[in-house]
Amino acid sequence: MKLGGIEAGGTKFICAAGDEKGNIVEQIQIPTLSPEETMPAVYDFFSRHQLDAIGIGSFGPIDVDTGSPSYGSVTSTPKIPWRNFQLAGALKEKFDVPVGFTTDVNAAALGEAVYGAAKGLDSCLYLTVGTGIGGGAIVKGEVLQGLSHPEMGHILVRKHPEDTYRGKCPYHGDCLEGLAAGPAIEERWGKKGIELADRPEVWEMEGFYLAQALMQYALILSPKKIILGGGVMKQTHLFPIIHKHFKALMKEYVVLPEYLDSINEYIVPPGLGDKAGIIGSLLLAEKALNEGEN
Ligand code: ADP
Ligand code: ZN
Repeated sequence: MKLGGIEAGGTKFICAAGDEKGNIVEQIQIPTLSPEETMPAVYDFFSRHQLDAIGIGSFGPIDVDTGSPSYGSVTSTPKIPWRNFQLAGALKEKFDVPVGFTTDVNAAALGEAVYGAAKGLDSCLYLTVGTGIGGGAIVKGEVLQGLSHPEMGHILVRKHPEDTYRGKCPYHGDCLEGLAAGPAIEERWGKKGIELADRPEVWEMEGFYLAQALMQYALILSPKKIILGGGVMKQTHLFPIIHKHFKALMKEYVVLPEYLDSINEYIVPPGLGDKAGIIGSLLLAEKALNEGEN
């Protein structure tokens, strides 16, 4: 099977040609400019490979409702040139192969569930903490989508008693993303996250917020593994802080108490590192081919 994958991000598109085993034979990076500038390079790359299907994990918001006339498009993004662009439709038209389409984080969750930290498990949650916060999930082996795709970054959390920061989300102010994504850390503390590595209070507060969010996802979705990626999580000392807060919040109230006993193996970094999204998009292509989706 020759599969194409796109990890369509806000700053760059990664395109790969590979297979359902997660092998990548060729990969390129293209800056995310406008569709007119970026897409020709995408077409050019895929034209050099005889593909059976293409999978796209995209920045959002996107329309994932197969019954909708705008299915396959990027919708209300602040990136104006991409607004209402028919991303999946453009690939379908160009190459006439099945095209799988979901969010970048759903694709990463799929990659992790098949070949990464959740390998062999039929459910997992993937959360990225970077410029924004976004979550994707695999439930019973399927990508989780509903009316739209999950928007896990915008849930509400209890404010840390010492946090006077008003929050950065343009819609909600102090939602999780508004309080805990990279730009919020930078605005609250006056420095980029990477320069704050030796300030324990920064990461204590960050862990306090992320653990609350994870508790809610865990209670609602019951994922078998929680995987945390994105630039902010490069501060790996955040993991034990999150573990501590998560345990303190959950107390004994969990369906499977062993989750808390093995918390270090329950909330973990990506097994595929930065490749979770692109490998996930290849697997999405395979799913599209098997399911005859278009
Ligand atoms: P994006 O979300 O745009 O795909 P990233 O996941 O790299 O990209 O997230 C970028 C955000 O993460 C920025 O706000 C940046 O300050 C923050 N960030 C990146 N690397 C680190 C790091 N090593 N430590 C702390 N914060 C980081
Ligand atoms: Zn918000």
